[in-house]
Amino acid sequence: MNETHVTIRQKFAGKYKGGYPLIFKEALASTNKLNEEGTILYLKDEKGSFAGRGYYGRQNKGYGWVLTQNKDERIDQAFFENRFDLAFQKRAGLFQDPDTTAFRMFNGEGDGIGGLTIDNYDGYLLLQWYSEGMYTFKETVIAALESVTSFKGIYEKKRFRSGGKYIDDDDFVTGERGSFPILVKENGLTFAVYLNEGAMTGVFLDQRHVRRSIRDHYSEGRTVLNTFSYTGAFSVFAAAGGAAHTTSVDLANRSYEKTIEQFSVNGLDYEAHNIVVQDVFDYFNYAVKKGLAFDTVVLDPPSFARSKKKTFSAEKDYTALLKQAITVTEDDGVIVASTNAAKVPMKKFKGFIEQAFSETGGKYKLIEEHSLPEDFTVHPAFPEGDYLKVLFIRKK
Ligand code: SAH
Repeated sequence: MNETHVTIRQKFAGKYKGGYPLIFKEALASTNKLNEEGTILYLKDEKGSFAGRGYYGRQNKGYGWVLTQNKDERIDQAFFENRFDLAFQKRAGLFQDPDTTAFRMFNGEGDGIGGLTIDNYDGYLLLQWYSEGMYTFKETVIAALESVTSFKGIYEKKRFRSGGKYIDDDDFVTGERGSFPILVKENGLTFAVYLNEGAMTGVFLDQRHVRRSIRDHYSEGRTVLNTFSYTGAFSVFAAAGGAAHTTSVDLANRSYEKTIEQFSVNGLDYEAHNIVVQDVFDYFNYAVKKGLAFDTVVLDPPSFARSKKKTFSAEKDYTALLKQAITVTEDDGVIVASTNAAKVPMKKFKGFIEQAFSETGGKYKLIEEHSLPEDFTVHPAFPEGDYLKVLFIRKK
């Protein structure tokens, strides 16, 4: 086996032998031998005992990932086939569900291979590579996919800097080219999806259960405000659930036509709804001035965003955002607050809510709590992989 032996500091040996998947800098006795991305690493403790086999691939999270705890297992096509097979078996229910044709098929370390995710968009696979090291396995990964599953075509996104940029002009890899938008289903509704238009596809697959809950329980006859709405996915689910009216607010110009498109592919009349291209914070000021109030308010800001006037950081500014949302929420209304900020774990997030309500002098009750859906598998030894926190809050 062509691999580089790397020593793990003794105090971390137990952690790796117990299955911890991320190779982080402090755990390595030395990084001298880490020169070439994609190098297979044989990890051993200071006594020379085997602690795992992985690869070198720099991400912001660390230096690479452990791939196997089996000393005899090679990292070859059979390895990838085995991990893909296991992952696809776990999702057998989703593969067979005609109402949901877009979901995550393979979720990085959660399915045993940190640095690679695969999403299924109605037979078009989207591979996301998180390091140059992982990308060196591309040919083997494609061959393994061809051998264990069937697909129409494969697209990819490099989530690491290559040639000075992150996004290529053409993300097509192999198979049949999609004719975009391709229409995928989620719990019976339709999304228009683009796999060849930069970083985002039009829908964030990790919010599937949240969208369903909003449609099924918090929409009928209600007014809905969807902030940071992107392509309006939450608004479409609300409208389909019988919302009296939805308002989608996003400052990106593209969001206007993208939202019209998502309404239209579902046969929903977008003209009966409000699509606003504006800074959310300006919209809140406007809504307060006009005395507007909504029955359901969705907050799904990015972890960090810079707009012309200010920067928003979930860690520092979420409480203020909640306070504004509380002001425009009807009594007995529901706020759906979401964050994927790594620096805001669930406990801290609940603290923001407590603080926002205590500062506005109101009462509330937490009525639903969501994390990642089951297809975004979390590694048991790496709970920090579960980045999504969503709370449904009833304002009393
Ligand atoms: N909720 C969306 C995803 C949100 S992505 C969904 O479920 O699909 C984050 C969005 O926030 C982006 O579309 C970005 O344009 C928007 N955004 C960032 N800062 C903003 C601001 N200050 N006001 C309005 N929109 C903002």
